[in-house]
Amino acid sequence: MDYIAEPFKIKAVEPLKVLTRSEREQKIKAAGYNLFSVRAEDVYIDLMTDSGTGAMSQHQWAAIMTGDEAYAGAQSYYRLMDACQEIFGYAYFQPVHQGRAAEKVFMPIMLADGKVAVSNTFFDTTRAHVELAGATALDCAVPEAADTDSFYPFKGNMDLELLEKAIAQYGADRIGMIVMTVTNNSAGGQPVSMQNIRQTAAVAKKHHIPFVIDAARYAENAYFIQTREPGYADKSIIAIAREMFSCADAFLMSAKKDGIVNMGGLIGVKEDELLIRAVKERVIPYEGFITYGGLAGRDLDALAVGLLEATDESYLRYRIGQAEYLGETLRAAGVPIQYPTGGHAVFVDAGKMLPHIPYDQFPGHALAVALYEEAGIRSCEIGSYMLGRDPKTGEQLKSMFEFTRLAIPRRVYTQAHLDVVARALIAINARRDTLPGYTITDEPPVLRHFTAKLEPIR
Ligand SMILES: *Cc1c(COP(=O)(O)O)cnc(C)c1O
Repeated sequence: MDYIAEPFKIKAVEPLKVLTRSEREQKIKAAGYNLFSVRAEDVYIDLMTDSGTGAMSQHQWAAIMTGDEAYAGAQSYYRLMDACQEIFGYAYFQPVHQGRAAEKVFMPIMLADGKVAVSNTFFDTTRAHVELAGATALDCAVPEAADTDSFYPFKGNMDLELLEKAIAQYGADRIGMIVMTVTNNSAGGQPVSMQNIRQTAAVAKKHHIPFVIDAARYAENAYFIQTREPGYADKSIIAIAREMFSCADAFLMSAKKDGIVNMGGLIGVKEDELLIRAVKERVIPYEGFITYGGLAGRDLDALAVGLLEATDESYLRYRIGQAEYLGETLRAAGVPIQYPTGGHAVFVDAGKMLPHIPYDQFPGHALAVALYEEAGIRSCEIGSYMLGRDPKTGEQLKSMFEFTRLAIPRRVYTQAHLDVVARALIAINARRDTLPGYTITDEPPVLRHFTAKLEPIR
């Protein structure tokens, strides 16, 4: 397929270094085979995450100079509120320093010991904060998502039958919240349809359960609705976003994604005054006064501009096009991926590519290590290694997917970089039988994948 050319040109450059293969093998070994422990300067192309790794525009950098650093009531805060109002249309917006800060503030308001939270699929930190609040996190992804090879336009959707079943099983009063993750990161950055958002909202309303959007990539999701869902081709991204958010009671957002900032987050509350009060009460001790929420005034200004830039259709066409270009190049060469590609990344189906490595030897991680050794490319496992253990029994959980995620930072890499990535993966695919599985030698109890140490099983 054609690469959609960048709707921008480059003003500032960041030099890259390329190590030799033996240097890379030594670096990854010294890092305990954990890519989070590798120094960024030892990485050539960094596809570990699209979170906070985007390039800001000249308009964002200019806005930084207008940052008002007043402790309370800064102009920057009001500019951010205006941008939020235009896109989301809620009564209250709370800036916080990143997505998990929003989770830390919000989850204990909604959840407690014995409660259950249900999602299309929880993101790792969101799941962790549900569990830290004493509750159980339950995923209800649609079965179409599990078949990585077949086209389905909205593989991110909630399985409504499973959702109703969970509500019947636990009782509506035990379900603290229903969370819709858009796009559905862990299922492959896959979009959720407006119809599914509406239907899920209707189920939540029927049972009086709060409905919350995990909104990190809401603009990418809106673009997929515009291009794939009947009736939305003529609606603007902002009009679609407004419709999505009108279905929910609140949202949590890591602004490091579709806010195109290096740090930031948001909580939005549609109208519930008691919930707004509870959010304010928890934000002040944990994040700071409500008009800055853990961010500098200049950060609020960069976010006000970035939020609107992320709704630009020529930007979204280029961005979604990058994932599609890399995905199609890999697929054409026989590398199995979650198809069609989602918004922010290509998810290589490492479980399918490396059938000789069982889930508890982490095929997605094995491929990520091989990709670093092969070409200095950093990626991230999204599978059983990230999912971790059952918090009650300590048993290794089996993920629905064993992915190696190639997340594409916003406005950072070129077509030639993506070609380097494709060539490296195709080379590894040709010798895939030789890749070893991994075992964990040192493991913390929560979010272990960030700091665990591993060893190849030779
Ligand atoms: C990134 C992300 C989060 C957590 O946000 P941070 O800014 O990394 O703390 C939560 N949910 C989703 C869907 C995310 O992608």
